[in-house]
Amino acid sequence: MANDVPDREPFSEKLRIPEALTFDDVLLRPMESRVEPDDADVSTRVSTNVELNLPVLSAAMDTVTESDMAIGMARQGGLGVLHRNMTVEEMTEEIERVKRADELVIQRDDVVTASPEQTVRAVDEMMEREGVSGAPVVAEDDTVLGIISGTDIRPYLEVGERDEVREAMTDKVITAGQDVTARRALELMYEHKIERVPIVDEEDRLVGLVTMQGILQRREHEDAARDEAGRLRVGVAVGPFEDDRATAADEAGADVLFIDCAHAHNRNVIDSAREITELVEADVVVGNVGTREAAEAVVDFADGVKVGIGPGSICTTRVVTGAGMPQITAVAEVADVASSRDVPVIADGGIRYSGDAIKAIAAGADAVMLGSYFAGTDEAPGRVITMNGKKYKQYRGMGSVGAMRSGGGDRYLKDADDDEEFVPEGVEAATPYKGTLASELHQLVGGMKSGMGYVGAETIPAFKERARFVRVSAAGQTEGHPHDVMITDEAPNYSPQG
Ligand code: 5GP
Repeated sequence: MANDVPDREPFSEKLRIPEALTFDDVLLRPMESRVEPDDADVSTRVSTNVELNLPVLSAAMDTVTESDMAIGMARQGGLGVLHRNMTVEEMTEEIERVKRADELVIQRDDVVTASPEQTVRAVDEMMEREGVSGAPVVAEDDTVLGIISGTDIRPYLEVGERDEVREAMTDKVITAGQDVTARRALELMYEHKIERVPIVDEEDRLVGLVTMQGILQRREHEDAARDEAGRLRVGVAVGPFEDDRATAADEAGADVLFIDCAHAHNRNVIDSAREITELVEADVVVGNVGTREAAEAVVDFADGVKVGIGPGSICTTRVVTGAGMPQITAVAEVADVASSRDVPVIADGGIRYSGDAIKAIAAGADAVMLGSYFAGTDEAPGRVITMNGKKYKQYRGMGSVGAMRSGGGDRYLKDADDDEEFVPEGVEAATPYKGTLASELHQLVGGMKSGMGYVGAETIPAFKERARFVRVSAAGQTEGHPHDVMITDEAPNYSPQG
């Protein structure tokens, strides 16, 4: 005999389902415009206190972002987020590499110096080895005694290579204090026809060096993302329970920490992420989330919210777990909550074309994060492989067996002693080799700016307000791609498979 059970909502009610859309379901409605793409200003905020000149981040994946990528991204005005499939010590070194890359003042430990007793020959060899063309000459207590350069050395190599450096060096050395600006350093260099200025403390002890080459390099990257000290900005992924990694990243100078979790709408993750925000000075972006409710659970303490449950190109979360949120709807839901609290939103994953990126912004994101788009560039880790005459680079999900095996899997479930026991949520793949990051970014951002032109909005905040979507049918989708032709010359910003 059947048991009586309390009344409950009919299961069939579950089938009254809200619709969720993604990139290919929508297009931007063209609107009256006076905005030329070149005039569009794409500067934005990635977190409460960090501004960028490009609304673009490279993904925290071990086939996408290490220091080379982070340096390249920041020089162009975006942000690289270092992955966490490395030890805390390695991470610290990577952060330091980014921070040192375009520093105005090279710090003491990194300055190649000579001592007055060294022979000219020895210094010449040392400078060659270190790749520098001049070096401050310092006493044992680091007092600056002079400076020696290739020009000083050359005559001695002919006749007196065993002579001491003190004979050959220039002893009327022009130095500057620690508060020197790039402008002042350059003035000194022009005035005295020199290429490097040692930086000294009140007792004339060496604390750093400014070089002409360094200043010119900084000038090449006018739009770079820089911190208050003029160093390149860098983001770092940390696990939600990795307090040690978070504090180490903060101390090493990371600008933004990204709590790196596949499903941040989890009470333990949220409690721990909140604690991390209290431990560190850097901004903390929390993710990933994909719903309004999740956004509500994090906006009161997060400096930014990252959106993406399963849109990634190498991601199998939706097929493996049956859970996920199509990305345009996910971004819009999260942005409803976050933007009312002035918290920036980052759309992470699923972006194949520049059009997808600007659609994500129209849905409410302040910036976009991409993995596959950048994995084929020179700046991504890993070497170029050739298959059937074509060049590729490796690209793998951080929840793939390979990435989990090398340590990165706690973003996804990883309680396994051998590979068979992993339950991966990502795949390992190859992506076409694409050349430099700069040219990829040029295409990506160029396309986004053109999108702003079609909508008639000159800035990212104005674009977010003004942009409207239309819904696209399957036929409309087909119409939007090249059709009824055979492509003969590949365009730099389009390939049929994305
Ligand atoms: P893409 O730009 O390649 O479409 O997506 C990159 C994003 O996918 C990353 O920033 C990250 O959020 C997500 N992701 C990276 N690895 C994995 C994975 O193994 N599984 C899932 N579900 N997502 C991943």
